[in-house]
This record gives sequence, structure tokens and C-alpha cells, in this order.
Amino acid sequence: MTQVPLEGFPDRVRIVDVGPRDGLQAWPEPVPTDVKIEMINGLIAAGVPQLEVTSFVAPRAVPNMADAAEVMAAIDRSRGVELTALVPNARGAARAIQSGVDAMVVFLSASQSHNQANVNCSREVSLAAAAEIAKMGQDAGVPVYGAIATAFGCPFEGDVPVEDIVLVAKAYADSGITKITLGDTTGMATPRLVQERCRRLASDVPDADVALHFHNTRGVGLACAYAGLQEGITRFEASVAGIGGCPFAPGATGNICSEDLVYMLEESGIHTGIDLDALIAVAQRTEAALGQKLPGQVMKAGPRLRKYGRDEVRSSSGSRA
Ligand code: ZN
Repeated sequence: MTQVPLEGFPDRVRIVDVGPRDGLQAWPEPVPTDVKIEMINGLIAAGVPQLEVTSFVAPRAVPNMADAAEVMAAIDRSRGVELTALVPNARGAARAIQSGVDAMVVFLSASQSHNQANVNCSREVSLAAAAEIAKMGQDAGVPVYGAIATAFGCPFEGDVPVEDIVLVAKAYADSGITKITLGDTTGMATPRLVQERCRRLASDVPDADVALHFHNTRGVGLACAYAGLQEGITRFEASVAGIGGCPFAPGATGNICSEDLVYMLEESGIHTGIDLDALIAVAQRTEAALGQKLPGQVMKAGPRLRKYGRDEVRSSSGSRA
């Protein structure tokens, strides 16, 4: 394996697995609590340093997150993993603090129409709620991070001006929220947009500590992560086996896949602290538990140097590739 990172790239990256939340919140069937707990504890055992484990939303709105507190209580925290949860409002924040999360994640969409469709209020109302939650977090000693959805495009409005991202990031920073994630809710990011947005935030909101969250809707999720690495970004959100997708984003598919990302990084000499084989095993067990083919690719092909038996490799005479 390559030991030295690709020239100009960071030598260590933090992977945040959002599968238990982003992956399962919109799953069409109810996911049993023990399946979630096994998945989360498996990810922790594989060395994932940070997890978005659940969402403290109204159980009526998102039935698959109704067991948030129960899930939180069953997680193995002996390895010092950082557990975050999504909170939409003060009520959710109070529940999240009560359950013992390490940090809360507030969210809003950079585009007005997506924010309206997703949380039924204007961006300004969401920003005010974020400020209120930031205050609650301060009082309780729980850090608050901010996610910006539709940061690379909106399914209703198309392009989202970079100025809107800067505006939201500045408003977050004014509330004391400096760890922010640019979310590519519907897979509209491209390497060019990633470069543009990372550079604008670095110059206009220097306090912002930026993470990136891509979906592989159009097949360029890992290319976007690569573009982020080139801009010096060292936190990436991904989901085990590539599960996930926003229920309010037409045609949206899963997040970029954690194992595929870890594979790309480790083979580039960029350390994640994650055991790829163990992560692949979690992906395979998750697929079996959910009973549906999941999009991850390395979980199917195995690591690069996996050896196959002759009878496992189909040959077709005359094949050139
Ligand atoms: Zn996502």
C-alpha cells in the first residue's frame, strides 16, 4: 500500500459516517432498532471516528427516527467515537441533549424553495432556529455544527449562487457555529463547483471549518471528494454501503459510499484510521439486514489485492478489456 500521500494532499482525513441517519431516515420500510445499533457499533469497531447516528425530528414526520433516544443509549462509546445527531428545532435539541449526544447538527437549505419543501419555513426562520439551538448548546456544553443543504444546486431552482452559501455560512458563524458542512442534497456538485465554493468560503468566511457531503446521484461523488481534498478539506461525510437520499429531492440517490471513499483515500496514502475489511463487513451485513442491493462498489469487488480463485473469474475469449 502507498504510504506517502499524493503530492499536495492531506495525510489524514476524518470520515463521518452518516448512514445511520441520512441512509436510514428515508428507508421505505421500518428499520428495526437492533439493526441500527448493530450497524452503528460495527462502524465504531471498524474505526469510524465520527457518526451521525440519528435525528431528533418529530416521530410522525420521520417514523424511522422515532427510536433516536433508544439508539443513543445502546451505542458502544468506549472508543471515544464522536456521536452527532440532527436537530430541526429547540424541541429536538432538548431531546438530543438529554440523550447525551456529543454534538448537534442544525441544518437548512441554501435555496429558499428547498428549505420550504424540506422544513416548511423560510431560510431566515431556519437561521433563527439555528441561533436558538446554538445558544441551547452553549448553555449545555454541547457543540453545534451547521449543515447547508442544496449547497451545490437545488432541484427546484437549479443553480444556487455561491453568495447564498457565503450568506448562510456567515449567519452560522455569527451564531457561533463555525463547523459547517456543505451538503450536496441532490447530487448536483461538480469538481468545479467544489473548488469555487471551498475557495470562496476560505476567503469570505475564514472562521468556517468546512466539511463536504456528496451524493453520487450523477456518478461524480468521489470526483467531488477528490476536488475537496485538493482544496485542503479534511472532513468528509459518507454512508456505509452508499445508502441514503433526501426524501424531498426527486431522483436523489445515496450518499457517496464510506468504503469506496476509504479505499480511494488509503490507496492514495491518506489515512482514515478505518479498517477497510471491517468496514466492508459492516456494509455486507447492513445489506443483508435491509434485504436490498446497496450501491457500494468495494463491498462487492473487495479490496484491490483481493485474490480470486480461477473458477471465480469469468473469462470471455476475445475480450480486450
Ligand atoms: Zn446525504
